[in-house]
Amino acid sequence: MKRPNIVFIMADDHAAHAMSCYGSVINETPNIDRIANEGMLLENCFCVNSICSPSRAAILTGKHGHLNGVKTLDVPFDGRQQTFPKMLQSAGYQTAIVGKWHLGEGGNSSPTGFDYWNVLPGQGAYNDPKMYKNGEEVRYEGYTTEIITDLCLDWLNDRDPEKPFMLLCHHKAPHRPWIPSEKHKSLYEDIDIPLPQTFNDDYSNRSRAAEEARMRIERDFSYGDLKCEPPAGERRWARVVPPTDLTEFSLKPIESDEPVTFTSHQEVKEWMYQRYIKDYLRCVASIDDSVGEILDFLDTEGLAEDTIIIYTSDQGFFLGDHGWYDKRFMYEESLRMPFVVRYPREIKAGTRHEAMAVNLDFAETFLDYAGLDIPEDMQGASLRPVFRGETPADWRTSMYYRYWMHLGDHYVSAHYGMRTDRYKLIHYYGEPLGTPGALDESKEPEWELFDLEKDPAEMNNVYHDPEYADLVKELTDELYRLKEEALDFD
Ligand code: CA
Repeated sequence: MKRPNIVFIMADDHAAHAMSCYGSVINETPNIDRIANEGMLLENCFCVNSICSPSRAAILTGKHGHLNGVKTLDVPFDGRQQTFPKMLQSAGYQTAIVGKWHLGEGGNSSPTGFDYWNVLPGQGAYNDPKMYKNGEEVRYEGYTTEIITDLCLDWLNDRDPEKPFMLLCHHKAPHRPWIPSEKHKSLYEDIDIPLPQTFNDDYSNRSRAAEEARMRIERDFSYGDLKCEPPAGERRWARVVPPTDLTEFSLKPIESDEPVTFTSHQEVKEWMYQRYIKDYLRCVASIDDSVGEILDFLDTEGLAEDTIIIYTSDQGFFLGDHGWYDKRFMYEESLRMPFVVRYPREIKAGTRHEAMAVNLDFAETFLDYAGLDIPEDMQGASLRPVFRGETPADWRTSMYYRYWMHLGDHYVSAHYGMRTDRYKLIHYYGEPLGTPGALDESKEPEWELFDLEKDPAEMNNVYHDPEYADLVKELTDELYRLKEEALDFD
């Protein structure tokens, strides 16, 4: 059989609940939906560590962070190790990565295994980006999402049509600080985006970790995030902290001459949410356009049948859920990765699959399709049977998660946990363990258990409920079995 081409499109921080094929009530993503409609949508795809660089390293290697070296944002990737792009390249694939890399620059951290790489340094800029093209600095003018798309299409046009290709198209958007394109900057201008169900979460019945996290809509945005002018002498990235008495408080949007005043803290919170979510969704709209352009290209070139095209994101994101932005927690909105795939030769159009997938599976899936042996030390499983609509008898029924960056950036306590189809057990062990990027401060350990059937929004920790005592024991045993199986001994 002819080896399929692979187009892997990954956004940064695009939550599944901001995609219409996943039932979004806040936006439409017609082009991403097209992949789902013409292929398959995974209902339960999760990341093993909900943060940018670690998810990217897990995808490249098929291994957890404690084995690939990238447990937090503060560790550069060592590109001398085994990755699926290197293996596909050795097997005769033409390989490219365009866009966000975010695994370190220079030395052993530059991309390896790619004939062509053209990547943003660090987080990259939303406009007029500097990029590194096979190591050489290049400046581009324009909106980064569109530039990444054009560079991908240029590479596809210039490829050798006789050989299979693998293209990783990695968008910077819709990562913070959510800067939309000129084209979409007026989208949603005259409407209010609905508030999520858990917007006014007060963090009762849960861990202290949830209450202590610093990613709250009403308290942890900067002036830059909200596109408001900072007061004289204040930095653009300073936090906006509304005072108890709001009479003297106002915010001045950069596009307006008039400051906005408020009569209640709830009003401030809802206003900030609208500022945030609209820009986030405008960034998503550009990504969706990009997906449409790539799909059109595959059609025009007659490549649609022979190409596996995937759209995903490095993790999920809180879209005002629990009163938050950002990710890191093992809660659903952050843990869940969107994942849609089209490959007409093997995937039935318009299907959905509930099998539990994790980002460790992607590497093995690509190797499987390329007809290569899967190395024993990869820790996922090929999704190829799932894509065919099957569920192998030995398919996983639980997954292991670990967030290492204890109290770094948004003050989220380090934790590990496991999820089954119905339950989620989380242990905040409360120690930095010498991890780079972790804050050297201890927290009292705590546990959470959620019954996702009764409490899908994860508002009620039942860990201490006597009715769940037997289950706690069973799930705890399974958690430590998974931890050991993952070769995580810390
Ligand atoms: Ca990310």
